[in-house]
Amino acid sequence: MELDKQSSWVERSLRSVWHPCTQMQHHAPHENTVPLIAVSHGRGAWLYDHEGRRYLDAISSWWVNLFGHANPRINAALKDQLDRLEHAMLAGFTHEPVIQLSEQLSALTDHVLGHSFYASDGASAVEIALKMSFHAWRNGGQGEKQEFVCLKGSYHGETIGALAVTDVALFKDAYGPLLRAAHVVAAPDARNAAEGETAADVARRAALDVERLFVERGRHIAAIIIEPLVQCATGMAMHDPLYLTLVRELCDRHQVHMILDEIAVGCGRTGTFFACEQAAIWPDFLCLSKGISGGYLPLSLVMTREDIYQAFYSTDVRRGFLHSHSYTGNPLACRAALATLEIFREDDVLATNRVRAQRLTDALAPLAQHERTRHFRNRGMIWAFDAVDAAPDFSRQFFSAAVERELLMRPIGTTVYMMPPYILDDEEIDGLAARTLAVFEQVMAA
Ligand SMILES: *Cc1c(COP(=O)(O)O)cnc(C)c1O
Repeated sequence: MELDKQSSWVERSLRSVWHPCTQMQHHAPHENTVPLIAVSHGRGAWLYDHEGRRYLDAISSWWVNLFGHANPRINAALKDQLDRLEHAMLAGFTHEPVIQLSEQLSALTDHVLGHSFYASDGASAVEIALKMSFHAWRNGGQGEKQEFVCLKGSYHGETIGALAVTDVALFKDAYGPLLRAAHVVAAPDARNAAEGETAADVARRAALDVERLFVERGRHIAAIIIEPLVQCATGMAMHDPLYLTLVRELCDRHQVHMILDEIAVGCGRTGTFFACEQAAIWPDFLCLSKGISGGYLPLSLVMTREDIYQAFYSTDVRRGFLHSHSYTGNPLACRAALATLEIFREDDVLATNRVRAQRLTDALAPLAQHERTRHFRNRGMIWAFDAVDAAPDFSRQFFSAAVERELLMRPIGTTVYMMPPYILDDEEIDGLAARTLAVFEQVMAA
């Protein structure tokens, strides 16, 4: 009976739901079928299917879930908010959750980024930052600044504007003719270190590439967009914080805005609340999404500085920032975010994560030292390593084998990574490491 229920949900899904970032044929019944899992409910770090099988959510459901599924504190906040106000338009109206969230986020940047503009998904936040940068320059009489710079291997979302500053061939090539070209500069990926070079050396070398471009073209460049510390979607490429410090100086010197896309790396993921804190800098625009609502509801925002805000402040409507989404500042999503920030404060999450991270790093030692892995790396609550001589369909094989061992993990190409929620207990940490090793050895032996 129960089994029928599971397979029937899967069948129905495949008939009518077009799944994201998925070749649907891979789910069709044939030899190399990748399982589609119909989730019935979630609790803590675990997702459960209709057969009662469970899966440890080691990637926080695409990097969004911070404090587990069905978190009692976030649930309670949302239930309370439901009975007060589910939504109201944010043009001409305002409400408590969006005000409190904006104030608290501003305080987290020492009020340097004191103005928050809201949307619903990460790609939209990136669109907003790009438009705002261009428009701020134009309002200041520098309308010729229309070009953008991104990093090799960057990922900033998949709408047309965000895709233009994304450098992932698979996502970009198909839609290339629709996109406005951006400048692509060297990535500071520490794996590019030559013999005897440190990660800081790689950062300096990559910053020189930015300098060359700014010297030549800076007058036409509005902004550079960067995923600080970890370029996630490209395969958890990590760099030295020095890179951010150097690019900040270059941006100041050449009058180019710095957009930091903290959609994946923000909200404590790299060990500090904002990744850029580790470089002791603030950008001109900071994009947040994913974890900010605890993984509950679609919410994104762009934080910016007073001088940028002032560039739009005028009696002229056309000088104002012309952008809106129907669900801008949705009260439920903002309330989920407030509950999330409260957990950070009450549980001293950044400190307890340091203890969790150390335990998982220790438990992963057999993988770090494994002869078939390279570049084992960790920053905050992100771990990754690259498989050596892996099969072409390594990622799919790994996913399928992981599911068999109650583990939700989706390698990016040959990079295996973990981005777990911030709630794993010791048993879950040790289990995650042991299962990952077992899955890896099984797939590499195949
Ligand atoms: C996920 C992600 C985005 C896009 O966010 P969506 O909500 O999926 O549109 C943008 N930038 C980075 C760094 C991301 O990881």
